[in-house]
Amino acid sequence: MLGRMQTSALLVNDILDHANIYHSDVEIVSRLVGGKIHRETYSEAHLRARKMSQALQSLGLDKGDVVATLAWNNHRHFESWYAITGIGGVYHTLNPRLFADQLIYIINHAEDKYIFVDLTFVPILEGLQDKLNTVKGFIIYCDEDEMPQTTFDNVHCYETLINAHDGDFSWVQLDENDACGICYTSGTTGNPKGVIYSHRSNVLHSLVAVSQDVMGLSSKSVVMPVVPMFHANAWGLVFTCPMVGAAMVNPGPQMDGASIFELLDAEQVSFTAAVPTVWLMLLQHLEEQNLKLPYLDTVVIGGSAAPRMMIEKFEKDYEVDVNHAWGMTELSPLGTMGVLKGKMHDLSFDERVDIKVKQGRPPYLVQMKITDDDGNELPRDGKTFGNLKVKGPFIIETYMKDDGGEILDAEGYFDTGDVATLDADGFMQITDRSKDVVKSGGEWISSIELENIAVGHPDIVEAAVIGVAHPKWDERPILIVIKKEDADLSREDVLGFMEGKIAKWWMPDDVVFVEEIPHTATGKIQKLALREQFKDYVLPTANDA
Ligand code: ADP
Repeated sequence: MLGRMQTSALLVNDILDHANIYHSDVEIVSRLVGGKIHRETYSEAHLRARKMSQALQSLGLDKGDVVATLAWNNHRHFESWYAITGIGGVYHTLNPRLFADQLIYIINHAEDKYIFVDLTFVPILEGLQDKLNTVKGFIIYCDEDEMPQTTFDNVHCYETLINAHDGDFSWVQLDENDACGICYTSGTTGNPKGVIYSHRSNVLHSLVAVSQDVMGLSSKSVVMPVVPMFHANAWGLVFTCPMVGAAMVNPGPQMDGASIFELLDAEQVSFTAAVPTVWLMLLQHLEEQNLKLPYLDTVVIGGSAAPRMMIEKFEKDYEVDVNHAWGMTELSPLGTMGVLKGKMHDLSFDERVDIKVKQGRPPYLVQMKITDDDGNELPRDGKTFGNLKVKGPFIIETYMKDDGGEILDAEGYFDTGDVATLDADGFMQITDRSKDVVKSGGEWISSIELENIAVGHPDIVEAAVIGVAHPKWDERPILIVIKKEDADLSREDVLGFMEGKIAKWWMPDDVVFVEEIPHTATGKIQKLALREQFKDYVLPTANDA
């Protein structure tokens, strides 16, 4: 017997239709390039998205066409995603921090037909224009009187296109498995690889993301996605906010501590999300200016490990609940969220932080296991670490154009490339990227754990740990440190600070002070570049063999 219920397709444009009817007056607030604050409602965004869909069709774009965006978080970027998917097209987010060669590669690889671009990034694309094989034209996010002098061959002003249409448009009907969006992995080794989300995977991800034990969003929330739309779908917030009628506050290009604080305060933001570097800048600003965060309830920290000190400061000094999240572009991106379980609320502050430094637990629809290198499942005891594998309907099956070939194991699990522990409550803790663990005498040392302890030192701004070749132990860890400008900090001070906090054999063999640590386009420490930089480094312990 078959069920007799309706089987309507799960399509992202229905989310905006819902917001238009049931949350019509809820605002999207955006800081634009140039600093101006723009406000519009979901209803206005809905109308403008449909006008832009008409404009895209009038430019000759059709179902299945890939249209890229190179932009900050703002209302036009929001509208463009829905306008593109509304004609059956596929949005492709470009990360402006990629190297020129990588941008050229992914634009050509995804066969982008048009590119929406913020004023800030016009010069980047002008420089690449001749090498973009499939791009027919550009649409600049600006008013008519802001149109810059440009060398683009075929260029349009976003607001002029909007003004030329009436919005009398019905979204093109699609299959829920049709492509919806594309985001490339950052390609720390080899070329970037494309992850193609479907309408169905984006809707399912959103339903999971809004739930209480994940992001817990509702019509009462005022959400500031500091995480860029070009970084793994802004962690789904472009879909989840209109889905529940949460207001959105988009920070645009200004992500320094003062600008973020200004919007958090003025717009009474209750929920925000970003990578740890953003929160470091905010906390520094709050301390310097002696400010508080009276409206903020929840901050999500993900993309890199949230240091213990950061969690403690938010919770103790500012009474903001920290949810530590882990995810990947390949997961749409949320994989785990560190919301405490009911039974954990009576624990002491320190015990709760012990749990919050872990990356959290998977929601329903994310299956998770750890295995050894032969694929045997390892115990969920919070101690044993292994290769972290995941499975579920918003997790990748294959990369675009089958790059990388078969990527799932026999049971359909995707190997994340992370090494982690799982405990009996389901909380996962990342030990390292599998490429980054330091392999000393056949045992593994977590570079992330050493870095987190080091950044707990008040004179250390940033820290990175890599393995360096050692004649006896294979590899030993060195700690690379940026210290505060005027700090008088020695190797011995740093090692003394770490003593007693880790097993003796985890102690770095050396501390190196540097001015700069290289970062990837998504703000992570570029271990590959550091390993290259320090490949001939001779450890002070090299002769102890
Ligand atoms: P990239 O394109 O830089 O790989 P992703 O956002 O897809 O961007 O990166 C995913 C990786 O980031 C994960 O596999 C993991 O190594 C790391 N990561 C994400 N969140 C966390 C976290 N909370 N703690 C530690 N590492 C994290």
